[in-house]
Amino acid sequence: MFELDIFFDERDVQSGVRAPGGKMSDFRTLTHAEWMAEGTRRFGPDYDKWRFVCPVCGFVASVQDWKDVGHPDAVAFSCIGRWRKDGIDALTDGLHKGMGRPCNYAGGGLFKLNPVTVVFDDGIEHRAFEFAD
Ligand SMILES: [Zn+2]
Repeated sequence: MFELDIFFDERDVQSGVRAPGGKMSDFRTLTHAEWMAEGTRRFGPDYDKWRFVCPVCGFVASVQDWKDVGHPDAVAFSCIGRWRKDGIDALTDGLHKGMGRPCNYAGGGLFKLNPVTVVFDDGIEHRAFEFAD
């Protein structure tokens, strides 16, 4: 994991492009019940209003945003720039030039950067984006 830290330095945080919660040092594991409780505490019971930050470009999207691009299956897993015309490339532009636009990072791709591991009751683990502040 050390090599990932190269991409995430203080400049990224101070620029405001990437939320501090998106730093790679903040990997954590929650049970599904804990994750649901935290989301509800932060955003309320309306799931469509929950917001998550992409671990690569720092773009904040709501569950409704994923639905709007036709991919509710990718909520908090892959960045919505994959399906938007203004999407930027995760590897070439996303790491240091977020520019407020979403990237095409895929949680299921080669680089698994999603920082929150959610453990479901049946033991299945799902890697998710961090909640937005
Ligand atoms: Zn992104």
